[in-house]
Amino acid sequence: MQGFILHTQKIKDEDLIVYILSAKALLKTYRFYGLRHSSILNGYKIDFSLDENPNFLPRLKDVMHLSFTWILQREKMFLWQEFIRLFYQHLRGIEELDSFYFELLNESAIKFLKQNPKRIIIDAYIKILEFEGRLHKNFICFSCEEPIKNEITLLRAFLPSHHYCALGYSFNQKKLEEFYKYKNSSIFNDEEIEKIYSIIKEGF
Ligand SMILES: [Zn+2]
Repeated sequence: MQGFILHTQKIKDEDLIVYILSAKALLKTYRFYGLRHSSILNGYKIDFSLDENPNFLPRLKDVMHLSFTWILQREKMFLWQEFIRLFYQHLRGIEELDSFYFELLNESAIKFLKQNPKRIIIDAYIKILEFEGRLHKNFICFSCEEPIKNEITLLRAFLPSHHYCALGYSFNQKKLEEFYKYKNSSIFNDEEIEKIYSIIKEGF
C-alpha cells in the first residue's frame, strides 16, 4: 500500500517507530534498523507492506520511496516537511481516518512542482478547516460575539475577531469571503500570504 511518512521516533539505537498516513488510517509501525534506511524520512511518500504482529506493532517492510520531482529543491522540501509536521500534530492519536487527508497530501505534492508552496499549503489548510466543520464563514467575533465588518482579524485556526478584541493580522472581509468560497489564495498578495502562513504555522 502507499502512504506518507508523517513522523518517526527513534527507539533503542537504530530502530524506528514510523507513523504513516495511508488512505484510511494513521498507522503506527515498527521498523528494525530504520535509521539505516534512506527511504524512511519525514514527508516521503512510500510504497510499503506490513507484517501484522498480534503482540506488538505491525512491522514495516518492503519500503520503496516514491520520490517527488521537486525533492532536491531545498526550500520546497523544507516547507513540505513543515506542512507534514503540522499535519502530524493535528492527526496524532487518531487511528481511522477519512481518505480526504491522504488525497489532500497527494494533490498538494503534485502542485508543489509548479506552484508557490506556501499558497498550496494555505489552500490545503482552508479545505481541512471546511472538511472538519471548523471554518468560520460568518464573521462573528469569538471574544465579544458581535458581528465583524470590513477588517477581520484572524487568530489561530482562523478564528475571527475584531482588531480591538484580539491581537493578530487583519484581512479584508471581501477577500476572505472569496477565499473561503473558492479555496484559492491567488487573490492575496505576497505580504498577505506571509501573514496567513504565519497563522497556520501556529498549528492546525
Ligand atoms: Zn469583538
